[in-house]
This record gives sequence, C-alpha cells and structure tokens, in this order.
Amino acid sequence: SAKEGGRGRHAMFEEPLDARLHERGALLADLRQAVARRELLLHYQPRVAAADGGIRSAEALVRWQHPGRGLVPPGVFIPLAEESDLIESIGSWVLDEACRQLALWRRQGRVLDRLSVNVSPRQLQSGRLVETVEAALLRHGVPWRQLELEVTESLLVGDARQASAQLAELRQRGVLIALDDFGTGYSSLATLRDLPIDVMKVDRAFVRDLGSDASAQAITRAILTLAQSLGKHSVAEGIEGEAQAAALRQLGCDELQGYLFGRPMPAAEFEQRLPQISAAVAASVTD
Ligand code: C2E
Ligand code: MG
Ligand code: MG
Ligand code: MG
Repeated sequence: SAKEGGRGRHAMFEEPLDARLHERGALLADLRQAVARRELLLHYQPRVAAADGGIRSAEALVRWQHPGRGLVPPGVFIPLAEESDLIESIGSWVLDEACRQLALWRRQGRVLDRLSVNVSPRQLQSGRLVETVEAALLRHGVPWRQLELEVTESLLVGDARQASAQLAELRQRGVLIALDDFGTGYSSLATLRDLPIDVMKVDRAFVRDLGSDASAQAITRAILTLAQSLGKHSVAEGIEGEAQAAALRQLGCDELQGYLFGRPMPAAEFEQRLPQISAAVAASVTD
C-alpha cells in the first residue's frame, strides 16, 4: 500500500513474502475442506507391459478440482498437505477411492491386474497405514494383490524401522511395494537393502535424457541390471518418445509409463482403454 511504501526498501521485500504466506494460508484453508466438499479426484495413467504393449496396471494420481482455481496439481497441494495434518485424511481418501474404482472395474469385467497408489512418508509415520489399507480393501472387496503402493526413499528419514515393518506387513499380505523415483534420493542403494520392495521405478530424469546423455543411459542400464539381479520388477516413468521406449525395452525394463502411452486421465476415459470380458465371466473369476 502507499502508506507502507513510504517506509522504503524494507516494505518492498516484506510485501511479496506476506502475500505468499497469505496465499499459502488461503490454499491450506480451502484444502481442509476439500475432502468433505468432494473436490478431490483421481486420474489414472496406464502402465503397459514392455513385452506386448498391453495395459496391465495404472498409477492413480490425485487432483484437486478447486472451485475457483480449476484443477490444482498434486505438486502444489501434496507438499502443503504433508506440512499439515491433512495428508492423513487425503491419503486415506485416495486409498479408498482407488479401491472403489478398482472394485467397480472388476464388476464391469474390465481387466486390470493392479492399481498403484502413491503413499507419503507421513502416512507411514502415523503407524496406521496397514489398518487404513485393510479398511479400504475390505470395504470394497478388493484383493490385497491388486494394490501396489509407491513409496520414496525419503520415508527412511523418519523412523526407518517402523516404516519398513509396516511395508513388510503389507507385503506379506500381498500388496506390492514400489520404490518410486529410484535413483534421485540420497541413498538409493542402502534403501534397496533396508526396504522390503517388489518394484523399482526408474525416475523420469534418467528416462528424459536417454537419447541425449550417455551417462543417463549408463545409469538406466545399471538400475535395470540391478533390478534383474535382485529379482525386482522394473517400471520406467516419463516416457514421451518412441526412441526412449525402444531403448528401455532393449535394456529389459518390464513396464513402461509415460505420455507416449497415455497421460493421466479421468476414470471414464481410462476405462475405454481396458479390455472387457463379460460380467458373468468376471464374476466367476476367483482370486
Ligand atoms: P510421481 O508419483 O513420480 O508421478 C509421476 C508424475 O509424472 C505425475 O505427475 C505424472 O503425471 C507425470 N508424468 C507421467 N508421465 C509423464 C511424461 O511422459 N512426461 C512428463 N513430463 N510427466 C509425466 P503428477 O500427477 O503431477 O504428480 C506429481 C507427484 O505428486 C507424483 O509424482 C507424486 O509424488 C505426487 N502425488 C500424486 N498423487 C499423489 C497421491 O495420491 N498421494 C501422494 N502422497 N502423492 C501423490
Ligand atoms: Mg508415483
Ligand atoms: Mg514417480
Ligand atoms: Mg517422479
């Protein structure tokens, strides 16, 4: 304002910061209402088998349909949720919604081996992840093995033993555990030793530079070799071009994910891409 402007330099630097904090506060206040107001939704991005190009699984990615701002990406509101207590309720909503959708597709005979859901370190810190997952699966009648959870090594920053004990329990029940964004954290190799995982996801940063950067190629090859030696399933994310896909297939990557095969999309659009068997046959298929 003109009055504060008279104080000179000092105010000039304070105002934008103040505005930013205010903005952040406003967004956080709205986020608090988002679950109850049903403003959150999931988009689904296909993951295709490298061998035959068929869709085997999908990653569920949360979006926020804000009444005034439009679609807010998770890169904006997940960090806010993580800094507050909101990640618990948002994370539970995501798990429940993913299971609801998966159960619906099963009833419709739409074939999808499993659905992958991102989990924040904070959801493991509460110590209640196993119950939350079990409640969602039971509520919708989804078998454990149809769910995959994507975690990052940042969860080891907190209580690593408690976190890995919960993952081990989930895994023992049949949930697949994926290590997301592999290769970008601080201690990827130690993480592989300490965390009970089934799947390694090669980070987009390496995939992006596959064609142009010899070291990105060498690192990708090393990660995929490591996955094979450890008996882990491998997925590469962020594939945008045919050349990247071809390189990853040649390096032995199991599943491919990226805009080349489909962007994250609403359920109604995603399900059009799934093979469908008759509902009667689907109902007779037991786990
Ligand atoms: P992520 O789990 O690594 O998800 C992959 C991100 O890469 C997604 O961004 C996806 O839209 C984007 N992506 C996929 N293929 C391509 C591609 O070919 N090119 C490019 N440029 N990008 C691609 P999105 O949906 O904005 O999500 C960002 C991050 O937000 C996720 O990274 C994840 O860490 C977090 N997130 C998303 N949904 C959830 C959720 O339900 N819970 C939690 N805790 N975190 C979530
Ligand atoms: Mg992910
Ligand atoms: Mg990722
Ligand atoms: Mg990523």
